[in-house]
Amino acid sequence: MAKSKLEYIWLDGYKPMQSLRSKTKIVDNFSGELEGCPMWSFDGSSTEQAPGNSSDCLLKPVALFPDPARENGWLVMTEVLTADGKPHETNGRAMIDDNDNDFWFGFEQEYFLWDPETDKPLGFPANGYPAPQGPYYCSVGAKNAFGRDIIEEHLDLCLEAGLNVEGINAEVAAGQWEFQIFAKGAQRAGDEIWVARYLLERTAEKYGVAINWHCKPLGNLDWNGSGMHANFSNEILRTAGSKEVYTKILEAFRPVVKEHIDVYGPDNHLRLTGKHETASINDFSYGVSDRGASIRIPVVTVERGWKGYLEDRRPNSAADPYKVAARIIKTVKSAKL
Ligand code: ADP
Ligand code: MN
Ligand code: MN
Ligand code: MN
Repeated sequence: MAKSKLEYIWLDGYKPMQSLRSKTKIVDNFSGELEGCPMWSFDGSSTEQAPGNSSDCLLKPVALFPDPARENGWLVMTEVLTADGKPHETNGRAMIDDNDNDFWFGFEQEYFLWDPETDKPLGFPANGYPAPQGPYYCSVGAKNAFGRDIIEEHLDLCLEAGLNVEGINAEVAAGQWEFQIFAKGAQRAGDEIWVARYLLERTAEKYGVAINWHCKPLGNLDWNGSGMHANFSNEILRTAGSKEVYTKILEAFRPVVKEHIDVYGPDNHLRLTGKHETASINDFSYGVSDRGASIRIPVVTVERGWKGYLEDRRPNSAADPYKVAARIIKTVKSAKL
């Protein structure tokens, strides 16, 4: 009898950033389809998701990917439900109001490869600092690019798992990297970011390297922080052909700055300072090609006659893409056109 290894992945209840958790279920004669993945349960009292005297939480499979690193392996992204089958309060995916996949999202996930021994990024000496920022972005060579084996292996795993990675690059700080994932459908985009994060953690683990998702792991020194720019569009933005429509949608973001920042990742005040290609956390601004704005209007959107997408530059590397997408969708839908 063929035995398959199904790795059920979920998000725990830790704050301020939910961690990835997973466990393996062995299934006989697995169909290879999402419908063939049974519901499962776990001990929510061990993940800050339930009290010990009523600890069961449910795992509802929502997306399935082949696991390239494991024979007969599959990655099963799940949503956490309470014992009575309702979305758990930590379940950001269930907050997304986009049934018809009208919304498309492209997330640019930045992160640091982190040496657990020195507690510094790869490429940093145990004492002191490497040369200042400048040579690392999109670099090649052992002097400036650190951890390429890991990120190459991660890229291959993502592609083999069927994730729609659109690119990767070395980022501005030493040891800092980025990958981009795009999907038509907000839930799918969130699923793919979380599974890519999972694969990155698991790959780096083999090398004894950690991932630092914090948005400003080097504090307020002159080193870039990590973002997760959210590029988004819906049918209206893709076809508007009107600056006025874009302006109305952008203005809908102005009165809800706090609601957005609340789900754009922890400690974002350390990153959104107005320096290092960011806007101040308290302001709201937008502009064509403006990388110092809260929301950038990509120049291609204007060149195509106001048909395209927008880039919210405020979400950070540790934000939950489900919650980010849910909030953006809510605000875009609230615009009075
Ligand atoms: P930059 O670093 O210049 O901000 P990237 O190339 O890293 O840009 O990322 C741009 C992102 O925008 C990509 O992930 C891409 O998929 C996404 N994108 C492009 N067109 C759309 C669209 N119509 N809707 C949503 N996202 C889009
Ligand atoms: Mn980018
Ligand atoms: Mn970047
Ligand atoms: Mn960007």
